[in-house]
Amino acid sequence: MDIEDINTVAVLGAGNMGHGIAEVAAMAGYDVTMRDINEEFVQNGYEQIEWSLNKLAENDQLTQDEADAALERVTPLVDMGEAVGDADIVIEAVPEKMEIKKDVYGDLEAVAPDEAIFATNTSSLSITELSEVTDRPERFCGMHFFNPPVRMPLVEVITGEHTDESVLEVTEALAEDFGKSPVRVHKDAPGFIVNRILVPLMNEASWLVSNGEATIAEVDSTTKFDMGLPMGSFELGDQVGNDVSYHVLKYMHEVLGDAYEPAPLLEEKVENEELGKKTGKGFYDYEDGDGVDIPTDEQSDLVKRRLIASMANEIAKLIGDDVAPPESIDEAVMLGAGFPDGPVTVVDGFGLEAALETLEAAAEETGHARYEPAPYLRERAEVGTFYDPADGDDGVDFEAIRVEYPGEMVGHIVLDRPHRMNTVSEQLLEEVVDAVELLEDDDDIRAILVTGEGEKAFSAGADIQSMAAGGADPLHGTELSKKGQSTFGALESSDLPVVAGIDGYCLGGGMELATCADLRVASERSEFGQPELDLGLIPGWGGTQRLPNIVGEGRAKEIILTADRYDAETMESYGFVNEVCESDDLEDRAFELAASLAGGPPIAAKYTKRAMLAGRNDTNAGLEYEAAAFGQLMGTDDLMEGITAFMGDGDAEFEGQ
Ligand code: NAD
Repeated sequence: MDIEDINTVAVLGAGNMGHGIAEVAAMAGYDVTMRDINEEFVQNGYEQIEWSLNKLAENDQLTQDEADAALERVTPLVDMGEAVGDADIVIEAVPEKMEIKKDVYGDLEAVAPDEAIFATNTSSLSITELSEVTDRPERFCGMHFFNPPVRMPLVEVITGEHTDESVLEVTEALAEDFGKSPVRVHKDAPGFIVNRILVPLMNEASWLVSNGEATIAEVDSTTKFDMGLPMGSFELGDQVGNDVSYHVLKYMHEVLGDAYEPAPLLEEKVENEELGKKTGKGFYDYEDGDGVDIPTDEQSDLVKRRLIASMANEIAKLIGDDVAPPESIDEAVMLGAGFPDGPVTVVDGFGLEAALETLEAAAEETGHARYEPAPYLRERAEVGTFYDPADGDDGVDFEAIRVEYPGEMVGHIVLDRPHRMNTVSEQLLEEVVDAVELLEDDDDIRAILVTGEGEKAFSAGADIQSMAAGGADPLHGTELSKKGQSTFGALESSDLPVVAGIDGYCLGGGMELATCADLRVASERSEFGQPELDLGLIPGWGGTQRLPNIVGEGRAKEIILTADRYDAETMESYGFVNEVCESDDLEDRAFELAASLAGGPPIAAKYTKRAMLAGRNDTNAGLEYEAAAFGQLMGTDDLMEGITAFMGDGDAEFEGQ
């Protein structure tokens, strides 16, 4: 079976997840049947789909016609036989109780076509155990969506012990067709990837408070403003629901042992029915109190070390037990939990030796099993990181960007954080510097092309979360500004000509990055702006100094002080964009331009850039530089080559000599 054989999707359960999964499948063009146990429940789910599709249409994410057509493809049903009789895949999203699910699979097996794939959306139950209730354990896998399925891009595709490779491949292809990013989980391990990282992290936070080692304020201040995670640990706990985390944790405790013993604080919250946001009270009080209120300045080094060490230990278990490699862990947690940087990257940055020492010290102090270091952590502590260190020439590992070699002497830097609109994190800044160096050192590269991954954005600006990690400390802000200034400066001052290919949002820090390119091509749908003043900031990555050089001080002041959005055509008329093209042609046109610059004389290009830069604030210095460079160029082979080609009618082949 392959993806072309899948036409009809049956969803069991029209609750929270079921209706969302049915909606996603219908939007992707599949015929969908959605089944629940009575008319009222299934109708309720159907109405929620209708509401959500209309909302998407209102927000211009779909046309009203597309929304209507999607709804038309969904058939709400109560009869199991009718619901699954024609199904090519059945996605089960009934309540998270082993007995209920087992009953459902018993009924289902009796009426479903033999070749249909069964996929369960369970968050924590064993895929293998569920598969064994059916007669088709090899056609059974996990397909774990995140809440709400319409918005969350991640789907964990989980193999059971008996699952056929081809079934996993079809399920992954289906998730992609749904517009989602599947991440493979190679073993049926409790919590799969995302919950296996998040739930023990929230539990460790609770232990720290239960043991009087930290306060809730300190833990959340540290998680949010020092570690740079999107939310405080307790804030996240309240959002997920303490009953849900507790339930997953209990299951881990049962299967994996005492390291997953729930902390007393968490148990107490569940007993008191303080389940989080949904009940009005959890770790924070949403009804009578102020809700989430996290101080920016109560960070604790102990909290940071313990939480990172706890993540390191879970990561080591996932990698060491072959559940998932580092890349999948980072991708899954970024997509599924909105981490600005993946947990493996965070932990690697902290250092595995330090993580191991923290665990050993805590194990000695408390004797608790959760601090027992995983064997794989000990093994990797000797290397220092989970990711293998870069090994020579082209072994440089980038996470936030990609470096590609499309030919024609062009080195292509792709800003690769599409899940966050290619926003600029500190990691991205560091990697851009490394990439520019890498390309400059490469004798086969003569021009750099910069584009953003995906169709939404070149780059929508700075990653506010990763910036907030430094808290309100002005020194951190200044450092961050300088770091951005010099990173983008590396493009501006690179000896290689740089072309930015802009498709989609080019805002804030993203626009400052584009400002440092030598030429800018933009698709007609692109949108520009420096919105910093709207946030009470100023463009801090060179915007106030570099933008005036391109559009003149008058326009630069207009753009920065109004903080307005501009379309590509207007930016072309301002001189910021050199050329506007159709959206579908952007990649090709930007590459063409970069290739044509790469084909030019490299030394002359280098001197042109240097002279313009040197003369920017000091015309005499610039003229001086220009004159010296002109003299240098008179002695090059490239000049002869250029003159010869000019006189004849062939193309010059510049050697850079
Ligand atoms: P829910 O309670 O909102 O919905 C479950 C629905 O299944 C209910 O409408 C119920 O009437 C229906 N149902 C019960 N027996 C049925 C049967 N025999 N046939 C068809 N429908 C039946 O629960 P939910 O939050 O949608 O969770 C469903 C599954 O998704 C669970 O396995 C859960 O672990 C998993 N999940 C939940 C989340 C989340 O955040 N809620 C996230 C990922 C995965």
